[in-house]
Amino acid sequence: MCGIIAYYGDELAAPILLEGLKRLEYRGYDSAGIVTIDSKSEFQIKKDIGKVLEIHERLNLMDLEGTTGIAHTRWATHGGVTRENAHPQISNNNKIAVIHNGIIENYKELKAKLISEGFQFSSETDTEVVPNLIEYWMRIRGLDFVHAVFNSFQSLEGNFALVVLDRDSKTIVGSKNGSPLVLGIGQNNDFFLASDIPAFLDKTKDVVYLYDGDTVIITGSSGAKRSYEILDFRTGNPVDRLIQSVSWDIEHAAKGEFDHFMLKEISEQVETIQSAASQDREKIQDIIQRIKKARGVFLIGCGSSFHACLSASYLFSKLASFHVNAVLASEFSAYEDFLKEDTLVIAVTQSGETIDVLDAIKTAKQKGCQIVSIVNVMGSSATQFADESLFLNVGPEVSVLSTKTYTAQLAVLTLLAFSLAGKYEEGLRRLKYLWNIVYNLTAESMRIRIKQLADELSSHDHIFVLGRGSLYATALEAALKIKEVSYIHAEAFAGGELKHGPISLIGKGTPCIVFVSKDTESKILSNAMEVKSRGGYLIGVGSHKIDTFDEFVKVPESEELNPISQIIPIQILSYQLAVILGHDPDRPRNLAKSVTVR
Ligand code: GLU
Repeated sequence: MCGIIAYYGDELAAPILLEGLKRLEYRGYDSAGIVTIDSKSEFQIKKDIGKVLEIHERLNLMDLEGTTGIAHTRWATHGGVTRENAHPQISNNNKIAVIHNGIIENYKELKAKLISEGFQFSSETDTEVVPNLIEYWMRIRGLDFVHAVFNSFQSLEGNFALVVLDRDSKTIVGSKNGSPLVLGIGQNNDFFLASDIPAFLDKTKDVVYLYDGDTVIITGSSGAKRSYEILDFRTGNPVDRLIQSVSWDIEHAAKGEFDHFMLKEISEQVETIQSAASQDREKIQDIIQRIKKARGVFLIGCGSSFHACLSASYLFSKLASFHVNAVLASEFSAYEDFLKEDTLVIAVTQSGETIDVLDAIKTAKQKGCQIVSIVNVMGSSATQFADESLFLNVGPEVSVLSTKTYTAQLAVLTLLAFSLAGKYEEGLRRLKYLWNIVYNLTAESMRIRIKQLADELSSHDHIFVLGRGSLYATALEAALKIKEVSYIHAEAFAGGELKHGPISLIGKGTPCIVFVSKDTESKILSNAMEVKSRGGYLIGVGSHKIDTFDEFVKVPESEELNPISQIIPIQILSYQLAVILGHDPDRPRNLAKSVTVR
């Protein structure tokens, strides 16, 4: 779940690593650290708890010497948030430094074995076994650094991306097995390894997407002598990987005039919904054929991606009279026995690295199912397992909360639903027409209007959200957005369910957001009346104001596309609530963007 960045070249490493850490902080931010090799071939290490900039203010991360280094921002899984547990973790002989994303499942056995060999441990992390295992293979068993790394990695169980720095040979090794890692090839024969491309996007757009098992070895300190090779750590065999150029720009990964990435990314939706809808028509038709041929189609995702799946399941039924099962990826194993070779699994994941989704994909693959992935990050693990992939084309999403990728997922799934109904052109036209509506929804005037609403709601402890049909999925997404970033308890109900229990929670002044569309209007307004009759405070989201509403946010009617447009004001509301309540919208507590642990 953490962020990894490594640099090997002629430039000073520390500023590059610090910049990379800032860009990766969405992946985890309880502590961070950097290690470089100085001119005396010694490690220079700085690490501490807190956010990257706080640590930099305290310790000055820029004044580390050297042109080779590795850095990490942590999302703790094993051991508390302490300086000792922060990465890099160093071997007993102070020669090997390691940063790690993931979990070493058999670390207890490995640790016990190393302790019996006389090793001492200073952290509670699973990671600390790795530098010491490498030291063991080098010092006690006489292997060179690279062989020691391979032997060590072969004994690890679990998911990891690991980057290792050897002080004496000045070599960096990076390897991936279930967690993300990409190689960047710089203009000056310099190299980067990172969890995600934006970490080095200001330096290069040339990347090598790594696959599980791939292990990059970077050596040869200076200029033309510097080189890399990739071997599979499981077999020791060389692997050939293409260098590809990414189309993302660094502006995508910078805040620009906005105070926070979350607001920037909400505002970008004017363009991103359009770019998501611009798919290769042949690829869409190929996926439609797969859907039609399949016996059983699952849409799987986690968090917001699951809400996009649920929303789409209504559309598939309504538009194309086609049944799909929307299932939480983390619950997918319960359906394992149902899977057959002709089952199709459509996996929806922003990063393509969400471990619950990858687990589900692997299960389905073992059963021989077809896999289609809908992802934002090219070359990510989900795309490596999939038979076919559609990309969201929205550039990097830096804020932890999913905003532009959620609406992009909806746009792609909507296009699929229209295409399945034989109405590809209509779907595309309708998505293009949405531009006008989204433009107004993301305008300054809307932000001002929503800020007033946020001022009113910020003192409440609970907010309820109601919707029906695909807008029930929108209600779930709205509640998720509000609670993730404002920490106000928000809960969604399908309008008809209110009377089956939750209505007991409504009292005088309880805020309740109600999503209204033409096809659900009469029923959802009856539910709204039930809330109003019990003293609830109604905030209507829809195309026209109804007397019952205490507050109203106008979103023009877009029929099947309402889920894309109606969520936008609530994304803005969630953002404003966070700002009013003094929370950092880009880094909500306890969360990380790409959840690569189970
Ligand atoms: N399991 C390691 C730890 O707790 C790595 C966590 C991460 O991915 O940041 O330190």
